[in-house]
This record gives sequence, C-alpha cells and structure tokens, in this order.
Amino acid sequence: MVNEKVKVAVNGYGTIGKRVADAVSLQGDMKLIGVTKTKPDFEARIAVKKGYKLYAAIPDRVEVFERAGLSVEGTIDDLLEKADIVIDCSPGKIGAENKQKYEKAGVKAIFQGGEKAEVAEVSFNALACYDRAVGKNYVRVVSCNTTGLTRTLYIIKENFGIKKVRATMIRRVVDPKEDKKGLVNGIMPNPVSLPSHHGPDVQTVLDVDITTVAFKVPTTLMHVHSLNIVPEKEPKVDEIVDAFEKEPRILLFSENEGFTSTTKIIEWSREIRTRYDIFENCIWKDSISVVDGEIYLTQAIHQEAIVIPENIDAIRAMFELKDRDESMKLTNKSLGIGEIVP
Ligand code: NAD
Repeated sequence: MVNEKVKVAVNGYGTIGKRVADAVSLQGDMKLIGVTKTKPDFEARIAVKKGYKLYAAIPDRVEVFERAGLSVEGTIDDLLEKADIVIDCSPGKIGAENKQKYEKAGVKAIFQGGEKAEVAEVSFNALACYDRAVGKNYVRVVSCNTTGLTRTLYIIKENFGIKKVRATMIRRVVDPKEDKKGLVNGIMPNPVSLPSHHGPDVQTVLDVDITTVAFKVPTTLMHVHSLNIVPEKEPKVDEIVDAFEKEPRILLFSENEGFTSTTKIIEWSREIRTRYDIFENCIWKDSISVVDGEIYLTQAIHQEAIVIPENIDAIRAMFELKDRDESMKLTNKSLGIGEIVP
C-alpha cells in the first residue's frame, strides 16, 4: 500500500455520499473508484457528468439504468472487487444489511451515524478518538449532532476538564431536498422521554457525563445546540474563546457582525462554499458565558456537511496513512477549513 492511493468506493450517493465522494476526490492519497445509485435519476446523471464511475447499488436494477439511457460500469459487487474500502452512505439501518457484502468481498468499510454502534468495531470522531480507528476494518463515523457535540466537548475537556454536561438539541426536521416528510407547523420533543440518544452516542467516542434532550423544529438549514457544561476547573470566557480559536474545525460567529440566526450563517457560507457546506462547528462567540462556575454556549451544526472531514480522517486512520494531526491538517486544507473565518 506504500505510495499507492487507497481505492475508495461510495455506496449510496445521497446527501452524505455525494459530499464524501467529492471530498475523497480532493485527497492526494486516495482515489475515488466509483459511486452507486439505486435509480437513474438526476443525481446519477450529475455523478456521471462529474466523471465518477457509476454502479448499480441493487444488482438486479442494471437494466433500469440501461433503459433510462444511463449505462453503469457494473453492480456494487463489481465495485467492491476493485475497492480497498467502501464508505457506506446508504439510509440509516441499511448499512448494517450491506455489511455482509463488504465482509464477503473482504473490503474495509466505514458506516454512518444512522447505524447502531455495534455495526462497527469502533465509533469515530477525529479529534476525540482518531487512534482507536488505526488499522481497523469497520468504523462508524458518529452522526451530525454527535460530531458537533463531541468536537466542542473535547476542546472543553482537554482544557478545563468536565464534571457534567446538559445539552438541548434543536434539530432541523429534514434536509432541504426532502419532499416526502417534514414537520410543517409544530415543535416535537424527540423523544418525549429523557434522554435523547445523543448523549449515549457521544459516550461511544468521548468519556463524559452527559444528558441530552432533543426537539425537532420546522427548518431544514441547521441544528442548534444549547450546552451547559460543569467544568473541573472554572475558566474565564477569554480562555474558552482562545481554546476554540486554536481548533480549525470550530468557527466563532458574532451577533454584532450580523450573525443573528442560522439563516445568516448559511448566507455567509453561500458566498464561500460549494452547496454552502459548513464542515465546522459554528459557535456563537457572544453566547460563551461562565455563570456560577458553569459554562454556557450555543452552537449551530450544518448537518449535511459536518461529518465529511471525519470520513476522510477515518480512511487515513484505518490504512495507517497519517497520524491524527497530520490527517486533520491534510483534510482541512483540501476542504478549505481554516481558510476563511467569519
Ligand atoms: P440519503 O437518503 O440522502 O442518501 C442515501 C442514499 O442511499 C440514497 O441515494 C438512496 O437511494 C441510497 N440507497 C438506498 N438503499 C440503498 C442500498 N441498499 N444500498 C446503497 N445505497 C442505497 O441519506 P443521507 O442523509 O445521505 O444519510 C446517509 C447516512 O448518513 C445515514 O446513516 C444517516 O443517518 C447519516 N447521516 C446523515 C446526515 C444528514 O443530515 N443527512 C448527517 C450525518 C449522518
């Protein structure tokens, strides 16, 4: 494998899959060898236009693609034969079903946060536990909310220690492309009973005492998290800001610069990024407070983009290509993380 590029397949070219495919294409040490689609729709045509080799995710649907005038290179099984690793970006719970194919083909696999932790040997967040994925065959990149919580809590824990975290997640109900489901005019406790699954999910990647509550609201743009952290050592607000400023995967936004809501953060990103993808945590600097020794802050998370850098770092860890800091640096540079700050 020395000096050879890792051959990467993407199974499931949806919201996460298309972004992972683009990100893999930007890496010097990886080669995107193909993506799969279940049907020959506009997304499949765009993948081909981008020069990505297209394969049928469901083997007996090759003819459906042919009839639509979109030829495929083969099926997922053909793609797996050529791959060193497959990034499973199929809908939640389908990844666990796909695992059998990956095992049979003898390829490493990365699963996404919609899968249960047991699908993989380890759950992954680059900052918090890169080393756990080194040399592994099956890794799960935790979900968007969990990735956002973990990055912020990792920085606080490293600098000030953590006794206890209470977090409230205000979740976008669906992604912007969705037209089959949604919540038009309500606020849904999700779940009603405590805790939401996010706290236990954070604990798969970071050792921390955390309780979470979650609500779905009628927006598609971003999630918002309200955090209350009891630190071991009481920090000053400036010290917390300094700690966040050192981490490129965290951005600080100020209300007095016009960042009054998630709409303005997205508007900022529309000016600088393809698909307005924000790979970083967006913390409102003005929200960072210390009251009676406890830290409070509010952050927004772009659900469609936040896990993309982690997928790239997970590949490097699994093939032992680079250590954590080197991998994160390469990934950040390729995605423009740290290039423009608000
Ligand atoms: P999506 O529905 O946008 O994309 C899934 C793609 O997989 C679709 O193109 C679908 O046609 C395809 N597919 C369906 N069945 C398949 C199969 N058997 N084999 C291969 N492909 C199949 O979903 P998504 O939002 O990209 O989510 C993918 C995974 O990423 C899920 O585990 C999800 O929980 C996780 N995730 C999603 C987000 C988000 O906000 N969208 C954020 C983080 C993690």
